Amino acid sequence: MAQDIDTPISGAPAVLRRELHRHPELSGSESETAARICRFFEPLQPDVIIRELGGHGVAFAFSGAEPGPTVLLRCELDAVPIREMNRVAHCSAVDGRSHACGHDGHMAILASVGESLAVVRPPRGRVVLLFQPAEENGGGARAVIGDAQFSEIRPDFVFALHNLPGFPVGQVVVRYGTMCCASRGMVVSLEGTPAHAAQPETGNSPARAMCRIMKLIDDLRTRLKVGNEIAFATIVGAHLGADDAFGTAPGEARVMVTLRSETDATLNRMVEHLETSVHRIAARHGLRHGVASRDDFMATVNSRKAVAVIRRAAGGRSVEVLEGPFRWSEDFGRLTAIAEGAVFGIGAGEGTPALHNPAYDFQDELIPLGAAMFEGIIRECLGGIR
Ligand SMILES: [Zn+2]
Ligand SMILES: [Zn+2]
Repeated sequence: MAQDIDTPISGAPAVLRRELHRHPELSGSESETAARICRFFEPLQPDVIIRELGGHGVAFAFSGAEPGPTVLLRCELDAVPIREMNRVAHCSAVDGRSHACGHDGHMAILASVGESLAVVRPPRGRVVLLFQPAEENGGGARAVIGDAQFSEIRPDFVFALHNLPGFPVGQVVVRYGTMCCASRGMVVSLEGTPAHAAQPETGNSPARAMCRIMKLIDDLRTRLKVGNEIAFATIVGAHLGADDAFGTAPGEARVMVTLRSETDATLNRMVEHLETSVHRIAARHGLRHGVASRDDFMATVNSRKAVAVIRRAAGGRSVEVLEGPFRWSEDFGRLTAIAEGAVFGIGAGEGTPALHNPAYDFQDELIPLGAAMFEGIIRECLGGIR
């Protein structure tokens, strides 16, 4: 349901959220967003500010008086290539782009945590607030970790949240083990020889090989015998020859598929099986071929210790512990792979449009709820901040 009127808001983080919402930037191009975040944080006087971290990422560290662990809280800078259909005063000012995943809200939540840390530092250790670039394409967390500046903020604990339409407002949603599936985009390209459509035998069309590969992708789950584990392949695009070229037998084909599974090990098996099968089929048909990876997400695996911290931080709030993982991916898995950590969901309302829906808008009432969760996590890991 699209909101047609603006609901009143209060507080600098909510004002920031609406400003970010009006000016969405796509993965890897978040320079203005990063600049807005820096302008918000400079008056809060963090102890360390790191810019251009793994691209346009920014991080702010707030240190306690006593030594102790580093707790990193992460949000995302990027928007998505979706045209917003809401007609609110703060709706996207950029055609074809919007904050339809609510990353504007996640940034506002960390801005609110920053306001609290500016008033009271943690008693020990330090808190790092990471505004990570390029989450949507799976490249940002890896780039941040690979940046030499990351050694200055290397964490012992990592936490992130994602708002979740379809769950009651403010409900905490978490899972032990895999919370979000691993996934990877694969592009299979085949190259033969085009010919006149009247004499296809003089060329070498990749049409038959393409059909075999699409059938193979369809059967991937059965072939790999994955038991009850989530593991499947979705063909997301396919192209053969040129449109309306009725006089030509094609010489080129491409198939694009997203592989998805509950564990990194199964995803790797799916990738290997696809690669070797494409190699075999292409060789049999005398075609040149390539298999490339895109949007590579590891499974986001929550540690037991980090989930226990989240459950304690929730206090009396309703917590749903999921039986199975979410099928979508989250590049926070790169961070839970290097530190004790977990991602949790925070309900955004049962009637709220789904993430990446053109009618989606972040619910501002989640800003204090999300900030209270993160402040609870800081308290659990480092001692009281309020
Ligand atoms: Zn998203
Ligand atoms: Zn998201």
